[in-house]
Amino acid sequence: MPSPLPEILRNLHHAAVAAGRPDPALLAVSKTQPAAAVAALAAQGQRAFGENYVQEALTKIAQLQALDLEWHLIGHLQSNKAEQVARHFQWVQSVDRPKLVTALARARPAHLPPLQVLIQVNIDDESSKHGCAPNEVDALATAVAAEPRLQLRGLMAIPAPWPDPARRRQAFVRMRDLLQPLSAAHPHADTLSMGMSSDYAEAIAEGATMVRIGTALFGARARPA
Ligand SMILES: *Cc1c(COP(=O)(O)O)cnc(C)c1O
Repeated sequence: MPSPLPEILRNLHHAAVAAGRPDPALLAVSKTQPAAAVAALAAQGQRAFGENYVQEALTKIAQLQALDLEWHLIGHLQSNKAEQVARHFQWVQSVDRPKLVTALARARPAHLPPLQVLIQVNIDDESSKHGCAPNEVDALATAVAAEPRLQLRGLMAIPAPWPDPARRRQAFVRMRDLLQPLSAAHPHADTLSMGMSSDYAEAIAEGATMVRIGTALFGARARPA
């Protein structure tokens, strides 16, 4: 079976051109996928991979160390796992509370570059989702920016899967509106991580600079995640 990667990259490019924006970065979401599947995609040039579960990710990161990939934590992070994450990941996209900021900053080893941080926003105010409230972004951003071992890079969201596309788009628009003042205040905060297999074109149209794609790249996950 041919790899879906070239087609996905073409789709991202077309969506970006249509929106008059630069091509977004592609994060390949490899949760539940074996290391061999990650290695196969890496062999085609994909460098950035997203994982949800710390233990599963640490195993894969160790197995694939020689490939020098870029690992993003995109799942909920418990504070007691912050130390491991600060040591082995390059990005954390799920920072949503002050305690995590402190824990990650304290644990980021001095010999590594600063940990790249996105603040996760619960943009549709869902009780089932992690992420801070929109009105908490400023204070969290200030806390991240104050830590030399962390680099504030922007915002991440997982909007509610509304059946109505217009409603999904509104969440993407609200995210873009949140990023604007943030990147004015913090010049490195240039990243808007939103859009998954089913809605990345809409997310790019509204300003996503990074899309997180799992199923469309790897096929359906064998177990729920
Ligand atoms: C699983 C996951 C994705 C990828 O979802 P797909 O629908 O498989 O593309 C993206 N972001 C987060 C936070 C996820 O947990």
